[in-house]
Amino acid sequence: MPELPEVEVVRRGLERWVAGRTVAEVEVLHPRAVRRHPAGGEDFAARLKGQRFEGARRRGKYLWLPLAETGTAVLGHLGMSGQLLVQPVDAPDEKHLRIRVRFADDTGSELRFVDQRTFGGLSLHDQTPDGLPDVIAHIARDPLDPAFDDAAFQGALRLRRTTIKRALLDQSLISGVGNIYADEALWRSKLHYDRPTATLTRPRSAELLGHVRDVMNAALDAGGTSFDSLYVNVNGESGYFDRSLDAYGREDEPCRRCGTPMRRRAWMNRSSYFCPRCQRPPRATG
Ligand SMILES: [Zn+2]
Repeated sequence: MPELPEVEVVRRGLERWVAGRTVAEVEVLHPRAVRRHPAGGEDFAARLKGQRFEGARRRGKYLWLPLAETGTAVLGHLGMSGQLLVQPVDAPDEKHLRIRVRFADDTGSELRFVDQRTFGGLSLHDQTPDGLPDVIAHIARDPLDPAFDDAAFQGALRLRRTTIKRALLDQSLISGVGNIYADEALWRSKLHYDRPTATLTRPRSAELLGHVRDVMNAALDAGGTSFDSLYVNVNGESGYFDRSLDAYGREDEPCRRCGTPMRRRAWMNRSSYFCPRCQRPPRATG
């Protein structure tokens, strides 16, 4: 599953290679890729034809392309394996090519949505006054958004009866923090994932928020050169973000701070990776 930094790399690539271009034709090659567009593939294609992509925007892990002067936007769902590729028009079709967008210019490239497992897709939506596709209006700002309200987030943490990792993954509280970067930020903060949020002091929650931003920015820096080519690519398996991880995926490897073997625990149908020494579990109560 791509996380915020991966999606931001794709956004930058789309901003560079797709913004300002006018759609000549859309070809929907698999109905599942437009299943979030209830009116169907033909309607999707017809409504995009002749429209101009204004730019590429992102909130959390959501990515969308506003269409100029229409009040609508194409929302991209990358799912588990979705890729948005800008490819030369004469490049052979990918095996799992689902949607092709041809442009009314002679730059020689087209936009392709490729998705092996077809959990992802594209859909067209009205935009809210804030410019968000209406279906994601409830998604909170992400921590890299300049308008993210640190004090409001910290206050909400204190009031919620939840645990810290659940809160980090709650898209109505803070968006764009997935399993990987939650584990990384908690390791840096020396916080156990099951720590009740109500026990976090303001300095501790401020420190955590700082680490969340640091791990995301570090990942962005690591992937920042990859969008410089014509080939815009994202998928959950891509390796170039993984090298700098301190917690996620490091079961039984020594903690980079204290040398204790890292542990993995099943957590809400996923895994949590942590150092049992640096990140002490909260004391059982009651
Ligand atoms: Zn440790």
